[in-house]
Amino acid sequence: MDADEIRALLQKALDRIEAATDVSALEAVRVEWLGRKGGQITALMKSIPSLAAEQRARFGQAVNELKAAVTERLDARKAALEAGRPAGPRIDVTMPGRRPALGRLHPITRATREMVEIFGRLGFEVVEGPEVEDEWHNFVGLNIPSEHPARDPLDNYYLKDHVLLRTQTSTVQIRVMENRKPPVRIIAPGRVYRPDTVDAGHSNMFHQLEGLWVEKGVTFADLKGVLAMFARAFFGPQVRTRFQPSYFPFTEPSAEMYVSCLLCGGSGCPACKRTGWIEILGCGMVDPNVFQAVGYDPEEVTGFAFGMGIDRQTMLKYGIHDIRLLFENDVRFLRQF
Ligand SMILES: [Zn+2]
Repeated sequence: MDADEIRALLQKALDRIEAATDVSALEAVRVEWLGRKGGQITALMKSIPSLAAEQRARFGQAVNELKAAVTERLDARKAALEAGRPAGPRIDVTMPGRRPALGRLHPITRATREMVEIFGRLGFEVVEGPEVEDEWHNFVGLNIPSEHPARDPLDNYYLKDHVLLRTQTSTVQIRVMENRKPPVRIIAPGRVYRPDTVDAGHSNMFHQLEGLWVEKGVTFADLKGVLAMFARAFFGPQVRTRFQPSYFPFTEPSAEMYVSCLLCGGSGCPACKRTGWIEILGCGMVDPNVFQAVGYDPEEVTGFAFGMGIDRQTMLKYGIHDIRLLFENDVRFLRQF
């Protein structure tokens, strides 16, 4: 047997070792080559003493090297199989995997859905209205007369005479009451448009959620109960609420609702201008003029309405300091929610 034949034998043994996919298959390979009876290398070892002296040394060394190489590879392969490493190319299982790219809901969508869910528990139905409105639904029906400063063409996106992009979701109140008899208990989330200069606190498109409950015997106590419950459900049970008299054309009496500052808990900080309170919405009892405009009898039913900026509530809830972040669609920002 010459050196080439020994090399061929070694390669054959290594191939068989590599092909063994579990420990018992590997053991069979070991017996086949190194087994005390019938092992191929064992047989070669046994033949050494019968060789002529000058052959014995050279051949004996080659067979010993063959045996050492096969033994070493068998041991390594066994250790690898016992460690559970797969055959074939080595894979570093400790490397971090590649995460699949998952989408997620925009914070405005999340906040809107949460609001819809909270008011849904109180029996409020979701209604939508058009974003292109007429003056009747945006102003007149809401008790906003033609000389009112809110109707200035510079403060509205007029598309043509008497037609504009709605500036508030209160329009939906009028549309619903025109088409339904009381009782009415609705919320109307949606986009509104105002030609404001864009800065950290203003956008010329933003989102509002309007609410309206009209029925026999609805009182200001119902208004306070519903909105306080909303504030605790949306911002957390620790939140306190406060109502402060205000003025809106379509409610009387009117109020602004405040929640205890979410950052300082009410002790005063820059976010709440050291007052401990943050205004979150406007509300009030529906003005009798509004009921008359839609054909409801103000002697028969009462109701309350409220309107809040969804963007503003979202910013308060998640601690977002600039409204523009909500509309820039930077995934580094959106990925945080
Ligand atoms: Zn504060």
